[in-house]
Amino acid sequence: MDECINCQQDLSGGVYTAPWEDGDNEYGYVICPHCGAKNIDWASGDDD
Ligand SMILES: [Zn+2]
Repeated sequence: MDECINCQQDLSGGVYTAPWEDGDNEYGYVICPHCGAKNIDWASGDDD
């Protein structure tokens, strides 16, 4: 993931929240530094 789903700008510099950090969120996500949209990192899910 490298660009925002909402504003299509670069997500570098955004705050990443890992799957275990926000209670029990199943996936990690990045908060866009430009618009604040939550960009789900689907690759972070536990897919065992
Ligand atoms: Zn954005």
